[in-house]
Amino acid sequence: MKLAIVSNQSTKSKRIMTQLEEKLLSAGLEIDQNDPDVVLTVGGDGTLLSAFHRYLHLIDKVRFVGIHTGHLGFYTDWRDYEVDQLVRSLQNDEGTSVSYPLLDVMLSYSDSKADKQFLALNEATLRDFSKTMVVDVYIKNDFFERFRGDGLSVSTPTGSTAYSKSLGGAVIHPRLNAIQLNEIASINNRVYRTLGSPLIISGHEWIRIDIKNGGNYHLNIDHLTIPQSKLKSIMFSVSRKKIHFASYRHTPFWRRVNDAFIGEFPKKEQDD
Ligand code: NAD
Repeated sequence: MKLAIVSNQSTKSKRIMTQLEEKLLSAGLEIDQNDPDVVLTVGGDGTLLSAFHRYLHLIDKVRFVGIHTGHLGFYTDWRDYEVDQLVRSLQNDEGTSVSYPLLDVMLSYSDSKADKQFLALNEATLRDFSKTMVVDVYIKNDFFERFRGDGLSVSTPTGSTAYSKSLGGAVIHPRLNAIQLNEIASINNRVYRTLGSPLIISGHEWIRIDIKNGGNYHLNIDHLTIPQSKLKSIMFSVSRKKIHFASYRHTPFWRRVNDAFIGEFPKKEQDD
C-alpha cells in the first residue's frame, strides 16, 4: 500500500508529519506522494479539503485519513498522539472504507468559453460583491424562483456543518445522497419573493441557476475562490463520484456534531 502525507504549515503539524513519515517507513510502508492508495492529512478540516483537491484525479481509488492537530474535525478522526495506533491500522489495512457524497458543479458561459466542471467536498458558493445578484433558480427543468440578494450556496451533507450551517442550513447525515441550497441575504418584500429557507434535493434531481444580470461573480469551491465573468448558468447535482475515507475507526456522525457544536456527550452515553 502506498501512502501520501499532506500537512498544513503549522510547526506542530510539520513535526507530526515528520514523526509519521519515520514511523511509516520503519513499519515497512511505502510513501508515494504522486500515486498513493491512502492520503494522510495532518492539520484540520482545511488540510483535508486541500488534499481532496490535490488528489482529485485519483478520487475513485484513493482513501483519506485525517489526523487533527487542533480540535476534532469533521474530516479528521485521529489525534496527533495516536500516530502509533494509526500506523498499526495501516499495516493491518483490509481496504475498508466509508464513502460520502460530493457536489458536481457545471458552469456554462455566454461567450464561446467551454463549459467547466468542478467537484466540491463542502460546498460551492456564488456571490456578486458589486451589486445585487439576480438569478433564476430551476429544480430539474422547472422554474422555481427568481432570487435577488448576495448569493447562493449549495453544500454536500458533509459540508452541511461548515459554511452551510452558518447560513442557517440543516445538518444532514452524510449517508444521505442529497445536496442543500442556502440563500445568502435574499431580498424578500412585497415585490420580490424567494422560499427564504434552505432547500434539500435528492440525488436524482438537480438545481440550475440562470444568471440574469451578468456581472463579475466570485465562485467558491470549498476553500478555492474562482472569479467568473460571462457566466450564463450553473448546474448543481450530487456527483456520481464519492470521497472515500479509510474506516479504521468510526466516530458516529451525531457524536461528532455534538462534540463540535454543543459539548461532550454525557459520561453515561460515552460508556454505552
Ligand atoms: P478554514 O480552513 O479556515 O475553515 C474555516 C472553519 O470551517 C474551520 O474551523 C474548519 O474546521 C471549518 N470547517 C471546514 N470544513 C468543515 C466541515 N465540513 N464541517 C464543519 N466545519 C468545517 O476556511 P477556508 O479555507 O476559507 O474554507 C474552508 C471551508 O471553511 C469552506 O469550505 C467553508 O465551508 C468553511 N467556511 C465557513 C465560513 C463560515 O462558516 N462563515 C466562512 C468561511 C469558510
